[in-house]
Amino acid sequence: MSSHRKVAILGATGAVGQRFIQLLQGHPWFQIEVLAASEKSAGKKYKGACNWTMQTNLPKEIAEMNVVNCDVESVEKAGNVDFVFSALPGGLAGPVETDFAALYPVFSKASAHRMDPDVPLIIPEVNPDHAALIPIQRKARGWKGFISTDPNCSTIQLAITLKPLMKFGLSQVMVSTMQALSGAGYPGVSSLDILDNVVPFISGEEDKMESEPQKILGSFDGNRICPADFMLSSSCHRVNVIDGHLESVFVKLDDNPTVEEIEEAFIQFRGEPQKLNLPSAPENPIVVRKEPSRPQPRYDRDEGKGMSVVVGRIRKDPIMTAKYLCLGHNTIRGAAGAGILSAELMVTKGIA
Ligand code: NAP
Repeated sequence: MSSHRKVAILGATGAVGQRFIQLLQGHPWFQIEVLAASEKSAGKKYKGACNWTMQTNLPKEIAEMNVVNCDVESVEKAGNVDFVFSALPGGLAGPVETDFAALYPVFSKASAHRMDPDVPLIIPEVNPDHAALIPIQRKARGWKGFISTDPNCSTIQLAITLKPLMKFGLSQVMVSTMQALSGAGYPGVSSLDILDNVVPFISGEEDKMESEPQKILGSFDGNRICPADFMLSSSCHRVNVIDGHLESVFVKLDDNPTVEEIEEAFIQFRGEPQKLNLPSAPENPIVVRKEPSRPQPRYDRDEGKGMSVVVGRIRKDPIMTAKYLCLGHNTIRGAAGAGILSAELMVTKGIA
């Protein structure tokens, strides 16, 4: 990279926006140019608009930046940007991201465009070839820019573990989640709802988990994505953990591999980001723990700087073929880190 790409962050004051800011500090290719949020924050300095909840200090130069509204005119007035990271609420993101995509590449964390047939739903290790939808999207919509989306946080870690199992004839998946509080954004779930409690419902989450993996693991036929042919059932729950989603996964594999073969497939799994040595790529997308009490959110969520998915308790299942636990950091691998890795991939491919 000859010079830094300048980026805007939409939704910069939220849980994911803050994580973008934290992860982009010292990034070798990308530099934060514009911070945008709602009308309530626009016009304020970032330090006055946001309740910083990261464990590292709010960088001084970020604290002093002015927050602007999330529209093209306001962002362009605030600086020249090369592309946009969107961490906007799903409902709002649809039209705002389309406005930006007419002019700029948009890397979105929101659900609004994930299932649009011409929008890639990318996990760089899993389906980098789906980036080939972008020229098709640009042509069909007449855009200078484009929209590339990352999956839902609980889907990303699941799909990463499913990818190496596809070769065993994956036909059915059942997953039960234990999802962290930061997944609900900031301030998120009220303390009186979650202390001493588990909430057995997360609005919209099961629908996303039951539809996104088939698109991600589907194949690109030159024009469109043909969804992968497996069935998936999910049950999603909010637990009293700050960061890190834990998932209990049951898989039906037609080739009936042994536990050792499954474990080896996880350990050996590498993707394009590792081959390309992208700055945010973890050395191991999947880390296997052998202790019966791992993975645990508090101990394992920062594995690979929060970009590795930690798998454990791989064992045979009397109804399905096998079962295991997987853990991922929801605001890093599941959100901002995923967006940054996608952008690194697109820059390397010459698309962004
Ligand atoms: P959040 O903490 O609630 O943050 C929302 C952000 O959007 C804030 O910056 C907020 O600005 C801004 N915003 C709200 N209403 C707006 C409006 N009308 N106009 C412009 N900006 C507005 O949410 P989050 O957890 O960061 O999630 C952001 C997106 O990422 C969502 O689509 C979510 O589904 C997705 N996501 C989240 C996670 C996660 O782990 N949290 C993981 C994957 C994907 P103000 O502060 O000014 O209100």
